[in-house]
Amino acid sequence: MSNAGSSEAGSRQAKDGNAPHGVALPSGAQYIDGELRAGTSGREHAVIDPATGDAVFTYDLAGTKDVDAAVAAARAAFPGWAGATPGERSEAMHRFAGVLAERAEEFARAESLQCGKPIKLSREFDVPGTVDNTSFFAGAARHLQGQSAGEYSGDHTSYVRREPIGVVGSIAPWNYPLQMAAWKVLPAIAAGNTIVLKPAELTPLTSLMFAQAATEAGIPDGVVNVITGAGKEAGEHLVGHPDVAMTSFTGSTAVGRRVAEIATATVKRLHLELGGKAPFVVFDDADLEAAVHGAVAGALINTGQDCTAATRAYVQRPLHDAFVQGVADLMATIRLGDPFDESTDLGPLISHAQRDRVADFVDRARGYARVVTGGEAPKTNGLARGAYYAPTLIADAAQDSEIVQSEIFGPVLVVLPFDSDDEGIRLANDTPYGLAASAWSRDVYRTGRATREIQAGCVWINDHIPILSEMPHGGYKASGFGKDMSAYSFEEYTQVKHVMYDNTAVARKDWHRTIFGDR
Ligand code: NAD
Repeated sequence: MSNAGSSEAGSRQAKDGNAPHGVALPSGAQYIDGELRAGTSGREHAVIDPATGDAVFTYDLAGTKDVDAAVAAARAAFPGWAGATPGERSEAMHRFAGVLAERAEEFARAESLQCGKPIKLSREFDVPGTVDNTSFFAGAARHLQGQSAGEYSGDHTSYVRREPIGVVGSIAPWNYPLQMAAWKVLPAIAAGNTIVLKPAELTPLTSLMFAQAATEAGIPDGVVNVITGAGKEAGEHLVGHPDVAMTSFTGSTAVGRRVAEIATATVKRLHLELGGKAPFVVFDDADLEAAVHGAVAGALINTGQDCTAATRAYVQRPLHDAFVQGVADLMATIRLGDPFDESTDLGPLISHAQRDRVADFVDRARGYARVVTGGEAPKTNGLARGAYYAPTLIADAAQDSEIVQSEIFGPVLVVLPFDSDDEGIRLANDTPYGLAASAWSRDVYRTGRATREIQAGCVWINDHIPILSEMPHGGYKASGFGKDMSAYSFEEYTQVKHVMYDNTAVARKDWHRTIFGDR
């Protein structure tokens, strides 16, 4: 990548900006105080269409000065936004949901372009989910509550105020860029905070469009800012920034550890949504056809680049072989193709590097396990240029092997047998992660036990993947802490203050005896 003078960079980005697949490209990748700007790091980055390997948008990465400018804008906007009534914030956010809904097709196309997602996934999942989330938080903005007031000492009245924290610095991954922007921005601003969001360098487009839509809806300049820069430079500077009150991070557990170190050094509130390795536990009385369909859909959603994707299927021995056969047969019917073709089921991975990383995991597994189906990058139907990888099923792996223990983030499912219910639940819990899980059975006592004993932030019964704006999403164990979505997310984005009034109006309070004795 060549260096770029920042003054020319913005116009160059605008000039280069054709409209691939009807996506209007922005004139810069930094959205600060209500306007697009070019970054000042002196380094360029290209957004690559992973279906073809072609660069579709080249922009200047944010440097530390851009982070400082975005934080300053968010800081300046904070008193006004925090001081708006909940009703005013709610109204602006309802308008925001309306703008997003009007632009649904534009958002879906931009998301598919930068991620390689099948257009039906962007249209039916990412975009409507984001609109729904925006409506939910527009309503929730009016329901922020503290505990009820009371005379707990007898001589005082106490109550709790729930207050915004200030400027939130958020960092997001590339797998669901629009939804991650929504999950970070919406609870933060509904509660009266302002925000600086750093999307992944690979996928800035829909985060920038999301921030622009907020402005168009009348959310004041500086409330929502986006800086697109490298993790080490812009990301670390944002986390360590003294004017940022809270860090909210979604990404890998490895980077989350680094973010936690920096945030801890500056005594920041921290919310971490990290990796996952979701188990999929099939008891021997399960509906086999439902479990097979659930496993294929749960493993392949977003080409497996989903932190809650089904990755480890534990199947009770009587059903194991039929399950393996059923999943292999169904995987063979999945259509890989152009993300903009409406019949495509599975798009490419996010990048050729990610595809090679997945292939390396599978190639190493060949030494100790059996690749039942897949395990290769398709070369036909014009797919060779893209970052495609075939749906892959692996059997006969040991519980402690890499393919069972590590997050792969690709279209790869591993299947292991178990005998007793005890063993199934023990194996499900036997990784460092705890983000999501599912259990499959017709027996309410078995599924009830699974919901109690599986250590994960979400346990589905007889399904795997659906999420809801009303329900919390977040991890146990090395998958992090804190919640996205739902009213629970306000616990992250607000702080509570105890206010205490004296009711006696006497100069010498009863408790002053501890100082003045019996005088
Ligand atoms: P990543 O950890 O590599 O990057 C995430 C973000 O962190 C990016 O914006 C990146 O630029 C930034 N970053 C990188 N190094 C940084 C540093 N030193 N300081 C500050 N920021 C830095 O993750 P990814 O590859 O973009 O996304 C995949 C990962 O995200 C997977 O592990 C997946 O499980 C996880 N994820 C988790 C959830 C969840 O809700 N728990 C949701 C989506 C993705």
